Amino acid sequence: MSSSSSSSCTSGQLNVDNPVCFCGLKASQRTSLTFDNPGRRFYGCINYKRNSCDFFRWRDPEICERGKEYIIELLEQIGHLKKKVIALENEISTTPEDNYTLRKKLTNIENSRMALREEMDRLIAKITLVLAIQQSADC
Ligand SMILES: [Zn+2]
Repeated sequence: MSSSSSSSCTSGQLNVDNPVCFCGLKASQRTSLTFDNPGRRFYGCINYKRNSCDFFRWRDPEICERGKEYIIELLEQIGHLKKKVIALENEISTTPEDNYTLRKKLTNIENSRMALREEMDRLIAKITLVLAIQQSADC
């Protein structure tokens, strides 16, 4: 099962009609992402981490078993898609490096070609000289 099964939830949302918690503050509305209550909205204290206010109230009724299964399936599909996106982003981010490597190889090939061209020019010059000497000797 995916790691989204932990007791995680979406970020809090404050609405005027939210109930008031034990601190006397408007409770925030969040969405549960647990296996038992996937997608089910609830109210909780806005300061539940700092204060020890354990105000908790479900906003939505319990989801039927098929609904839970389906939401979990969808969350897992989202997880797979997120992994794919990350893999594709990594692929894209390595492409400039590959282009750099290719450009470097191309420069090396270009340098080798120029060196070979110079070598060829020197050899042609030598051949031309030898032919000229031979021609003048024949005359
Ligand atoms: Zn509170």
